[in-house]
Amino acid sequence: MNASSSASESKVPKPFRVGTAMDDRFLDHQTGPDHPEHPRRLAEIYRMIELEFKDRVMIVRPEPATLEQVERVHTPGHVRRIIKTAGQRMSSMAPDTRVCAKTYMAAWLAAGACIQGIDMLMTGALDAFFALVRPPGHHALADRAGGFCIFNNIAIAARHAMKRFELERILVIDWDIHHGNGINDLFYDDPRLYYYSTHDTGLYPYSGDAGDTGKGPGSGFTMNIPLRREMNDDDMVYLYAQTLLPVLSGYNPQLIMVAAGFDAHADDPLGKSAFTENVYGRIARLVIDFYRNGGKPMPLLFFALEGGYDPRSLKASVRSVLAALLGDRIFPNPPDTAPPGLVGLVEKIRMTHQPYGIL
Ligand SMILES: [Zn+2]
Repeated sequence: MNASSSASESKVPKPFRVGTAMDDRFLDHQTGPDHPEHPRRLAEIYRMIELEFKDRVMIVRPEPATLEQVERVHTPGHVRRIIKTAGQRMSSMAPDTRVCAKTYMAAWLAAGACIQGIDMLMTGALDAFFALVRPPGHHALADRAGGFCIFNNIAIAARHAMKRFELERILVIDWDIHHGNGINDLFYDDPRLYYYSTHDTGLYPYSGDAGDTGKGPGSGFTMNIPLRREMNDDDMVYLYAQTLLPVLSGYNPQLIMVAAGFDAHADDPLGKSAFTENVYGRIARLVIDFYRNGGKPMPLLFFALEGGYDPRSLKASVRSVLAALLGDRIFPNPPDTAPPGLVGLVEKIRMTHQPYGIL
């Protein structure tokens, strides 16, 4: 220990070295008038980073992913359909997913940014990385786009981490209000990726029931938790403390990837839930404190932007996560006792997962 350290200093955790991927080419992805997944979402976040975090986070300019990297997740047919949209004024890849002449480049860059983040984490250049990208990815399936997603950015980066760095235990935490059916399906039988998702099954894509827990060698490596509409921040953090922390212990991830959608915010026009931006910083802090207080080595922390359609609350939510990573704020601990209405849900998840031995 450094001789100048005092007891009070030792209580202040060392801030993470944090990187973000930012690039104006993500703003070139135009989805048409009145579409919720619009470029202003990212523009607001970028302005906030420039104003508030510029000197404290490393800003990475992304390179496009390679064809080989993308095709570890997507079929050649899907990739061909996306490439064909290059230069076309406006094409429709799914009823809710429109693309413009420059979308293909944004999609390749979004996947590439996530891969670069993994490389920087794995080589020790950073402790945490946030890919601030669009289009989002968690709904994209092997052979099709959907839910505003073109390529499954997190899945592509996870496969890269498995291939290049031989990772065997990647935990994906998906706190977007929509179920990440793409990530769920792509790794449903693969124990190398544990998919943990909290979502509203009454919203698109209407999947993610608690009983969907994986199959074959992946049985028990998917945890789907349908949320109740009336839940607040305390309820959510309690739920994560009761269900996610046991997964951290039991699965012991080498890398944690967060599908960071912020559409569960109360002001979001699609999610219409009851959470504030603080819930995201509190969950991030919960994970960090689990390792720090338990004296366990911290896994690498990766975040990729998914949904979030109200630019103001989206910006505030990203700020909340960065504040947790940089140690800027004290976030309240989860409630000690179960909030009313949560006992049954936690018990149901426990009963469903106990037979698999991780929880
Ligand atoms: Zn969403």
